Amino acid sequence: MKKYMVVWGATFFVVVCVSLYLMMESVSTNMGKSQELDARLVEDKIARIQSDIVKNQQTIKEIKSYVRSMSHGDSAVLEKLQRVLDQQEASQGAELQGVVKGNQVKPQVYQSGGEVKLSGDTCSLAEGPNPESDIQMMKVYEELKFENPDGGAWKQGWRVTYPEGKWNSDNLLHVFVLPHSHTDPGWVKKYMDYYTQQTKPILDNVLNFLSADPRRRFIYAELSFFSLWWESLSESRKQQARKVLRNGQLEIATGGWVMNDEANTHYAAMVDQLIEGNQYIHAVSGFTPRSGWAIDPFGHTPTMAYLLNRSGVKGMLVQRVHYAIKKHLARSQNLEFMWRQLWDKDGSSDTLCHVMPFYSYDVPHTCGPDPKICCQFDFARMSPGRYNCPWRVPPQAITEGNVADRAAMLIDQYKKKASLYRSNALFIPLGDDFRYDQAEECERQFNNYQKIFDYLDKNPQLGVKAQFGTLSEYFDKIHELSGSEPGSRPREYPVLTGDFFTYADKDDHYWSGYFTSRPFQKQMDRNIETNLRSAEIAFSLAAVYQRKHRLSGFPEDQLMRLLVEARRNLGLFQHHDGITGTAKDFVVVDYGERLLKAENNCKTIITEAVSFLSMATKSDYKQNIFFDIDEIRKNHDSLITKNVIQVSDKPSSVLLFNSLTHPRQEVVTLHVSDPNIEVKDAKGKVITSQTDPFWKDSNEMSQDRFKLSFVTELPAMGIVRYQISQRKDSSSNSLATVTYYHGDGPSSQSKFSVEKKEFSEFSIDNSFLEAKFSGSTGLLQSVTVKSTGEKHRSEVSFHTYGARGGKERSGAYLFLPDGKAKPLSVGHPVIRVMRGPLVSEVSVFINHVQHVVRLYNSPGVDGKTVDMFNLVDIQNEVNLELAVKISTDVQNSEREFFTDLNGFQMIKHKVFDKLPIQANVYPLPAMAFIEDDKTRFSVLTAQSLGVASLKTGEIQVMLDRTLNQDDMRGLGQGVRDNKVTPNRFRLLFERRSTPPIKAKLSGFPSMFAHVAYLHLVQKIQKIPQKSSIEVPPLLSENSFLSVPLPCDVHLLNLRSLQKSYDGDIKRGDDSALLLHRLGVDCGIPSSGLQCKDTQGKVKLRDLFNDALGVKEIQRTSLTLLHDKGPTSLDSDLTLSPMEIYSFKVKW
Ligand SMILES: [Zn+2]
Repeated sequence: MKKYMVVWGATFFVVVCVSLYLMMESVSTNMGKSQELDARLVEDKIARIQSDIVKNQQTIKEIKSYVRSMSHGDSAVLEKLQRVLDQQEASQGAELQGVVKGNQVKPQVYQSGGEVKLSGDTCSLAEGPNPESDIQMMKVYEELKFENPDGGAWKQGWRVTYPEGKWNSDNLLHVFVLPHSHTDPGWVKKYMDYYTQQTKPILDNVLNFLSADPRRRFIYAELSFFSLWWESLSESRKQQARKVLRNGQLEIATGGWVMNDEANTHYAAMVDQLIEGNQYIHAVSGFTPRSGWAIDPFGHTPTMAYLLNRSGVKGMLVQRVHYAIKKHLARSQNLEFMWRQLWDKDGSSDTLCHVMPFYSYDVPHTCGPDPKICCQFDFARMSPGRYNCPWRVPPQAITEGNVADRAAMLIDQYKKKASLYRSNALFIPLGDDFRYDQAEECERQFNNYQKIFDYLDKNPQLGVKAQFGTLSEYFDKIHELSGSEPGSRPREYPVLTGDFFTYADKDDHYWSGYFTSRPFQKQMDRNIETNLRSAEIAFSLAAVYQRKHRLSGFPEDQLMRLLVEARRNLGLFQHHDGITGTAKDFVVVDYGERLLKAENNCKTIITEAVSFLSMATKSDYKQNIFFDIDEIRKNHDSLITKNVIQVSDKPSSVLLFNSLTHPRQEVVTLHVSDPNIEVKDAKGKVITSQTDPFWKDSNEMSQDRFKLSFVTELPAMGIVRYQISQRKDSSSNSLATVTYYHGDGPSSQSKFSVEKKEFSEFSIDNSFLEAKFSGSTGLLQSVTVKSTGEKHRSEVSFHTYGARGGKERSGAYLFLPDGKAKPLSVGHPVIRVMRGPLVSEVSVFINHVQHVVRLYNSPGVDGKTVDMFNLVDIQNEVNLELAVKISTDVQNSEREFFTDLNGFQMIKHKVFDKLPIQANVYPLPAMAFIEDDKTRFSVLTAQSLGVASLKTGEIQVMLDRTLNQDDMRGLGQGVRDNKVTPNRFRLLFERRSTPPIKAKLSGFPSMFAHVAYLHLVQKIQKIPQKSSIEVPPLLSENSFLSVPLPCDVHLLNLRSLQKSYDGDIKRGDDSALLLHRLGVDCGIPSSGLQCKDTQGKVKLRDLFNDALGVKEIQRTSLTLLHDKGPTSLDSDLTLSPMEIYSFKVKW
C-alpha cells in the first residue's frame, strides 16, 4: 500500500512540475515583452514547449503502464519508475540549461570618465626638488665600492685611534651605560613560553634592582610582554613600577606592542600597534615614550622615523644597518644624524637618529671596537655561569685591586667608540637577548659597573664620567652639550635622506630572503589588516549610533573585547620574527592561530555592526541571527573559502560595506547555489550579472556552487543592500562561456557552454583594456589600452632560484642564490579561458602555480587594471625559490625602479652590478613601478613580498621559498613548512603627460594608482543574510559621511578608544580619527575617479552625517598622547601631502 502512495505521489509531483514549468514559460514570455524580444526567440520557445508537451505525454503514459504492473509489488519495477522520473527531471534540466546557455547579456561599454583636475600643493612634492641633505643614501651606494677588507679587532671597520688626552677633567666624555634585554614575543619559543619562562622573571628582577638603587637604569620596549606582566602585579608592585617609570630609571622606548619589522610591515599596522602600546603604557602608568629603540629589525625604514616623530619621540636608535654603510658613516662621524623624509621640504620631520656602529647589539659589540675586550665587561659571562666569551678571555669581577686596570681597559674602548661620534656623550648598551632573567646576573652587571663608575668619579683626570643612563638621558646630554633643544638638530649634525635596505651583516650575506619567507602568513596578515580596519570603522559607527540614539541591543562591550584582542594579535605579528617569517615552525603555528582568532573576531564585528546599522528599525536587530560574512577560514593554515548563498525564488539580501571615504564602483563576486540569478540593486532595479562555474580543479566544475558577479555602486563609507534570487529565465544574467586551449575540459555535462580550441594566440578584453596571451603557454603577452591604442609588451614568466652550495646557504633570513634566475619550464599547460560581460579570465595550470589573469568590465578602477592571481605550491621542492616576472617595453634608464616603504612612501633604487643579486632585492609591501618619459608600469600587491628589477623593463616578484637548512642566524632550522599560498596583484600601465624628473629620489603614485591600490587591499565587505531566515526590513542604502573625502585623503582608521586598562575592557566615549593625505604625481592624468582634489581641504563638521553628529574634535599626536588643543569644526582644515593627522573625536 505504501508503495502505491509513493508512486502516485511521485506521478502527481511530475505532473504538477510539468504544468508549473509550462506556466512559468508562458508567464515569463509575457513578462518579457518589455525586453527586446525578437521573433526568433518567441518561435524557439513555442517549439520547445511543443516538444515538452510531447515528451511529457510519453512520460505519463510510461508511468501509467508501470503503475498498472505495480499490484505485484515488484521492486525492480519501482526502480525502473524511479529511473524514468530521474530522466524526466534531467531532461527538463537540460532544457533549462539550453535557455540559459543561449542567454548572453551584451557587455556594457563604459567610458573612461572625466579627468580629475589636480593642481597646487597636491602636485608640489612630486614636482619639487629633493630635500636638502648632507648624506644621501642613493649617492652613498653609488660611491661605495663595497669592498670588505679585514679591519683587525673591529673586523668590518679599522684600527680606531684617538688623540691622547682628548678627554680630560676639563673635557669629560659622558658615558651612559644602559642595561637592556631584548625579548622577542615569539621566535625560537612561543610568545607565552617566553613570557612565563624568561620575560616575567626579567621584569620582576628589573623592578627589584631599580628600586634598590636610584642610580640604576633599564630600557624596555615590548608592550605585548609588559602588559602581561603589569596585569600580574599587585597594586603595591604597580606603584613601585610607576615610581621607577616616573623618576626616569625605567625607560619604555618606542612603546609599541612589539619592536616591529620595518620591511614587510604596512604603515597602518605599524601605527596600530604603536597606538595600542602607547595608549597602554600611558593609561596604566602615565608614562609617555620619548625615544625610539630598534636594535633587532633587519634593516630600517624612514617611515619608522616619521611615525616616531609624529608620536612625539625626540630621538631614535637603530642597529641593523649594512656593515659597509656603518663603516662609511663612522669614518666621517656621521653615525648620528637628523633623518629627513625624502619628501620633506622644510625638515619638519627630522628625527635625531643614532646608528650603533658595530656588528651586533650584544655586549662584545657595544662597548667599543674590540669584541675580545668588550666581552670581558659582560659580567654575566663570568665563570661559573651560563654564558662565556668565545674569545676565551672571561670577565673578572671588579675588585679594589683590579679596578684601575679594568677601568683603563674599558675606557680605552669607550674613547675609541666615542671617536666615531661627534659629541662628548657616549651611549653604551649593556645587554643581549633575554638577559637579566636571573637575579645573580643583575647583581653582577649592576654592581661591577657601579664599582667602575665610582672609580672613574674619583679619578676625573681619566676624562670619563660614566653612569647608568637611559637613551633619553643620553639624547638630552647631546642637546645639552650642543646647546640645542630636544627634537631639534644638534650643532653640526648632518641631515640624512634615504633608507637602510637591504641589510647585510657580513660578507655577501644580504637579508633579503625574509622579504618573502612564509608568504602564506604574510598574505593572511594583510587580509586581517583590511578586516581590522573595516571592523574598527563599522564598530565605531554602530557604537556611536547606539549611544547617540540611546538604544541598546548592539553588543558593544562584547565586541570591544573581540576588537582589542584582534588589535593585539595582529600587533604581535608585526614583530620582527612574526611577519618576517623567521620563527620556528611551531611558533609560526602559534602566530597563525592568533591571526585566525583576529580574523574571526573582525568578521564577527563587521557582521554585527553592519547588520545593526542596516536595520530600518534598530530594535529589530538581534545578534548572530540574520547575517554571516561570506569568508570562512577553517584553520590557521587553510585557504579562505566562501559561504555559498542558498538562493531561492525569494529574494535574499546581501549587505555590501565600503569602508573607504569615496564612492566606489566595482565588480563583486559571491558564491551561490544556483547559476540562474537575478540581482537587484538598492533601488530594486534589476542589474546585469554573470555566473561563472566554480572549479574544483582544472577540469571539474562544481554542480552546486557557482560564482556570481555584478557591478556595485557604493557610497562613501556606506552600506548598500543588494538582493539576489533564483530566476530560471533572467535576461539580466549571463553564464560565462568556457574555452580550453589544452586539456580535456569537463567530463560531466555542463550547464555552461564549453568549447575546445587549438593553440593560437587569444585575448580577453573589457571596456578599457585588451590582454593578449600566448596560445602555447597561456601566459600574458601584451596589454593594449583601448583609449590610446597603445599596446604594451607585458610578458609574464615564472623563474626559479636554487640555493648556492657551501657552508653558508639560503635560509629564513638570507637569500644566497646559486646564480641568476632560471626560467621555469611551463610546457603546454592546461589553459582555461572564461568570458562574460563582467568578468573574463585566463587560468593556466603549470608546475607549482595556478596562475589567473582577470579583466573586470567595470566603470571603476578595477576595470582599468589587470588582475593577476597565483596559487603557489612548492611544498614538494627543496631549496627552491619561485618568482614571477613581468617584462615590459618600458625603458627605465639606468635600471632605476621604485618600491614602496611600508605602503607609506616610494623610494628610488638602481640596480648595482657591483653588488650580488641578493643585494638588489627589496621589500615590496604595497607597490613597485618602473617608468620612462611616456609610460609608467606599476605592480600593486595585496601582500608583502620581495621584489627586484634586474633588467630594463622588468619587475620580478618573489613568490615563495623552501629552504632545507638553517642560515646561522639563531633560528636553528630551514623553511620547509610551505603552504598552498595565494597571492594577488594588479598591473597598471599609465601614460605620463610630462616626463618624470630625473633627479628625483622619491616617487609618488598617480591619484589613480592610489585609488586602485586602496581598492585592491581595502576590499568591499560582503555580508549575505543567512538562508531560510526572515530578515526584518533593512535600509537599502546608508552612508555615514555627509561629503566624501577628496581622492588623496585616506581615512587610515576610526578607532574606538578604550575606557580603562585596569580590569574589564570597555569602549570609552572618544574615537581616534586618523587621516592620511597621500602624495601624488600629477604628471600622470587620472580619469574616471569618483572623488575630487580639494587641495587637502577638509571640513570636519561635514565629515560625518547628522545621525552621528560630531561634538568636538581635538588634534593630537599620532599615538594620541600629546594633545594640541581643540580644532574648529567649521573652518576648513588643510592637510599637507604625505602627512598623517590624528584627532580625538567626541560624539
Ligand atoms: Zn629580536
